[in-house]
Amino acid sequence: MSSFDYDLFVIGAGSGGVRAGRIAARYGARVAVAEEYRVGGTCVIRGCVPKKLFVYASKFAEEFEDAVGFGWTSEKVSFDWATLIENKDKEIDRLNKAYIRNLEAAGAELILERAVVEGPNTVLLASGRKVTARYVLVATGAAPFVPRHLPGHDLAITSNEAFHLDRLPSRICIVGGGYIAIEFAGIFSGLGVETVLIYRGEQILRGFDDDIREHLAGEMKKKGIELRTRSDIASIERSGTGVRVTLNDGAAFGAGQIMFATGRIPNVTGLGLDKAGVEMTPHMAVKVNAYSQSNVPSIYAVGDVTNRVNLTPVAIREGHAFADTVFGGKDVKVDHSLIPTAVFSQPEIGTIGLTETEARQGFKAVDIYKTSFRPMKHTLSGRDERTLMKLVVDGDSDRVLGCHICGPDAGEMAQLLGIAVRLGAKKSDFDATMAVHPTASEELVTLREKWVAGK
Ligand code: FAD
Repeated sequence: MSSFDYDLFVIGAGSGGVRAGRIAARYGARVAVAEEYRVGGTCVIRGCVPKKLFVYASKFAEEFEDAVGFGWTSEKVSFDWATLIENKDKEIDRLNKAYIRNLEAAGAELILERAVVEGPNTVLLASGRKVTARYVLVATGAAPFVPRHLPGHDLAITSNEAFHLDRLPSRICIVGGGYIAIEFAGIFSGLGVETVLIYRGEQILRGFDDDIREHLAGEMKKKGIELRTRSDIASIERSGTGVRVTLNDGAAFGAGQIMFATGRIPNVTGLGLDKAGVEMTPHMAVKVNAYSQSNVPSIYAVGDVTNRVNLTPVAIREGHAFADTVFGGKDVKVDHSLIPTAVFSQPEIGTIGLTETEARQGFKAVDIYKTSFRPMKHTLSGRDERTLMKLVVDGDSDRVLGCHICGPDAGEMAQLLGIAVRLGAKKSDFDATMAVHPTASEELVTLREKWVAGK
């Protein structure tokens, strides 16, 4: 019998922590999981899930408009923010309960308190109780970064509050150029809020393929979103109707709300990791090896707190691999390469593999195949929206290195393209695959002409 209170103490009941706790308990480990806010973590409570529900809500405005070209008449339609919030909250409560049930059914003990590390095998709970564990798993996730040096920063909301606004503002200023900023710009704009996006970089969505970034920026502008790139906030003041925002170039304007989506930082403040001697990365994430183990052998970390690839499925995989390795006697490492992802922008982005720029840095000969077309639906709806699809191919081996799509259902396509690209599919395999007609994705297997710059 172990002299520790638990075999595993998990700090944080989010995507990574819940999976690790459940799997370890199934292997027979005595597991406790501490959560300071709500079981389910960012993804379920204030991330992927409510965000996607909001995206669905925001798309109906265009759906009603598009329906007219197909013979429908939509009499006066209206939207009620309070109904959306209420229904979203019900769904989040349902998921929260399901997560609690699953953890308890696996035999893990749930402790609804903040927990911090006291030493390599000791955890201190907010109630003052100290517990010991053979292993401690830090799965505390990340939190929105707020530029606190900015005058008036406390007047701004982040994605956390965006899910609980009492009412929709008539105008919102969103600061940031990453996927969260872009997704919320689409949500608010779709719900009828005049939307201004302020981003200090040259183009939105740094790290994504340049053609896709440019294409999406163009489509967002068509929807009436004001994109102000190479622009930054200087100060925020309260005004009668909300806030007054002043930019670095002196321009100033009013908005009902201002939202920072300026990145996320690992949740390590006050966590006591220094006391245990845990090494951090320069970005203040927990530094771990391929098995998610820190430099302190009994302390592991998974998910956003390690700042590797900050996505739910990655946190889940890391948590599962940790439990398999430490409690299941297996040797499991997570492969962080070739991760398909989506941005639920409007239109959506789906992507897997190398961007054209990355491919040109690593490969001698790179062939590009791309097409831009009007989705079939819009031939009758009349909407001026185009889809962009792009394949990045190694000209020597014919292997598809990357695939990038901006258009309806691109996220769904990315999931399946991910399998093909992982399997090392060649362009000739794409060509040999029969098209599914009439679909948008058939374009991916009928792209024959290499794209030549300036042609
Ligand atoms: P989390 O899920 O954040 O869980 C950490 C938990 O630890 C939290 O519940 C927190 O309350 C708790 N905690 C922290 N400190 C303590 C402590 N000291 N004691 C006790 N408990 C503590 N990812 C995708 O894959 N797809 C998406 O579409 C997507 N959309 C997103 C949209 C938004 C707006 C945001 C913010 C994120 C989104 N993400 C998305 C990212 C995704 O939510 C995270 O990558 C994922 O939740 C990380 O899981 P985790 O286990 O590392 O941490």
